[in-house]
Order: sequence, then structure tokens, then C-alpha cells
Amino acid sequence: MASLKCSKCGYGIHYHDEPDGTEWIAFESELWKELCKSTKELSSYTSDSPSGWYSVWKCSECGTLHVFKMQDIHLFKAFEPVDKADDDSESRMNLIAFEDIIWDQITETDKTGQAFREVFREIPRKYICATETAVFVYRDPERKILEACYKKIDS
Ligand SMILES: [Zn+2]
Repeated sequence: MASLKCSKCGYGIHYHDEPDGTEWIAFESELWKELCKSTKELSSYTSDSPSGWYSVWKCSECGTLHVFKMQDIHLFKAFEPVDKADDDSESRMNLIAFEDIIWDQITETDKTGQAFREVFREIPRKYICATETAVFVYRDPERKILEACYKKIDS
């Protein structure tokens, strides 16, 4: 079991082998498109990871998001939940995210990207917009129904 101390409230964030919303995997749209077209097995992406995907850990106590680049164990950025955040359209980046447990299940099988795309339609997911200073989480692919927003914590 992996653990992390929340950078905002100090609460221990623990990873369990059950879907509980703690850890999410997020892909930049470009990488996501590439994966969905791929005839390679998705499990091959774990060892030699392309950039553009992230692991996101959410503190169950205060809701702070901790973002890691997939190839790097060091914290990349942390974001705290806020009612409203500045939307800097200059630096917008779209991502798609789902619980890591699903990725684990999928990569345990030898599914190709194309096969994953078929089952992925049935899997709950989130649509994200990220800027330099904020993260917006949406329920819909058009990114209109806002679920939550977050502001970068300066370290
Ligand atoms: Zn916290």
C-alpha cells in the first residue's frame, strides 16, 4: 500500500486496492487519441511511458489534488478546492481521467488501445481542463458541466 501526506492539511492519503476515488489516471488529449488508435497492447505503456499522463491523488479530508507525472515520483503540482478559479484560456490543456483501478484492470489483460476504446465508453470518467494555475473537472466531454475547480497551491 502506498501513502502520501497531504501537502495542505497533513492528512495521510492511502492507496487501497479498491476503487474509492483516491487515485486517478489522467491523459492529455493528444496522448489519449494516440492510445485509442494504437494496436499495441496497453500494458506496454507502463514500462516505457510516453509523457502526457499523470497520476492524481485526492486527499479525502480536504479534497486537495496532488498531481504526479507518471515517470516521476516527485510531486508535480498540488491544487486545493475552491468555489471559483481563474480560467486562463491561453494555457488550457484538455485531459481525460478515470480511476486508476480501471487502468490496472485493463492493463492486466492484453488489450490493445483500440480494444480499450470500446470498453472505455462504459467506464465512468472525468473530463479535465488544466491551466498553469487551476484545474477544472467536468462531467461531460464538451466540458460544460462543472463538477469542481481547484487552484494551484504555491510551494
Ligand atoms: Zn488534505
